[in-house]
Amino acid sequence: MNKTPKGNRLHIALLGRTNVGKSSLLNLILGQDIAITSPVAGTTTDVVEKAMELFPLGPVLFMDTAGLDDTSALSGVRLKNTVKVFDRADVIILVAEADTWTDFEEYVLKEVQIRRIPLLIVINKIDLRKPSSEHLKFLQLKSGRVLMFSCSDRTLRQNYLNTLKQQLMEIVPADFIATPSLTGGLFPPSGGIAVLVVPVDLQAPKGRLILPQVQTIRDILDNNAAAVVVKERELTAILAGLKNPPSIVVTDSRAVLKVTANVPGEIPVTTFSILFARQKSDLAVMAAGAAAIDQLKPGDRVLIAEVCSHHALEDDIGRVIIPRRLRRYVGGDLQIDVSCGRDYPENIQDYKLIFHCGGCMVNRSEMLNRMHKAVEAGVPITNYGLAISFLQGVIKRSLTPFPFALTAFENEMMRKSKQIM
Ligand code: SF4
Repeated sequence: MNKTPKGNRLHIALLGRTNVGKSSLLNLILGQDIAITSPVAGTTTDVVEKAMELFPLGPVLFMDTAGLDDTSALSGVRLKNTVKVFDRADVIILVAEADTWTDFEEYVLKEVQIRRIPLLIVINKIDLRKPSSEHLKFLQLKSGRVLMFSCSDRTLRQNYLNTLKQQLMEIVPADFIATPSLTGGLFPPSGGIAVLVVPVDLQAPKGRLILPQVQTIRDILDNNAAAVVVKERELTAILAGLKNPPSIVVTDSRAVLKVTANVPGEIPVTTFSILFARQKSDLAVMAAGAAAIDQLKPGDRVLIAEVCSHHALEDDIGRVIIPRRLRRYVGGDLQIDVSCGRDYPENIQDYKLIFHCGGCMVNRSEMLNRMHKAVEAGVPITNYGLAISFLQGVIKRSLTPFPFALTAFENEMMRKSKQIM
């Protein structure tokens, strides 16, 4: 239901002469053996495609092209495949070796300049040979973006990967960082109905709905579907009165336990907060981050990060509900810091876990940057809706509409339980 169509993915082509380590680089990015690596020249004979969610870029399609050597580089079938890749690529990674610049690299450079495709030159295998400063200057003049890389250096390769992703973020066309639809992919093509559960309580502003709820209603209309807005108490009666079951029920996180209990199992349920985590950040990373709650111990330091400052009322989700439930879950006190406003703390590496608000007031780039900082610092990050769903024992149900995120959560739980054993 939630698979990103190929056409909506950022197409990243990897080009390079034979055995410069393109496939090893791709394997490292993918974390698995999809591309074939071999010391025999030119093993990858066709374009190998691999779709994945690449944090912080989102859905991407990697195109690993045939290895080209100096003699075959500018002729034959392999060249044809490479030319086709130019037609499809949104971004090109040209993998090269230190102090080597042949007709092939020159050809790629010319093509990307004509077609105005963003280019990143990766000098691979720097553990074997580093480029001279003259060669680096030469490359910088040629393209401006050059990254040194080594797939073999186990201690540094994660840093190289982070830098590569950051560089890609900086060169991808702006449309790909644009904010995706909140409810996109949740309805059949013929439309459908979303039931939105909105508590009208102390937290609710007088006479209006809050911004995330309003944005969700608008987004549902943009997806040619209908929104039925109810309070918790009316939910069962409204569901019983619908001719067909709704495509999804979206609830305020504070009501997620009751709502999941009252909605029949075959109807997908999620929260507003989870919709925003998908729209504004990377839901898979946020879902995996929720698994870290299980590892928290009394005395640990965690961060509650909110974008807007406001007065906390008695059932404030970030300042009251999450801290109270967390303390109960870990069986003791925690050091809980709250940051609000546009300033993200400098010392995020000091935290065991970050709980972020939905970020409805900031754009996707800002949320992705906040998330990226946490990931770079090695600190898991999750969001309010996921945390509440986890603490209430219903996170799997809340993530069912998003199988990729459910898998990320389950894998992280499994990984952490293996670490304990
Ligand atoms: S940006 Fe965060 S704190 Fe501000 S209204 Fe949205 S969810 Fe709440």
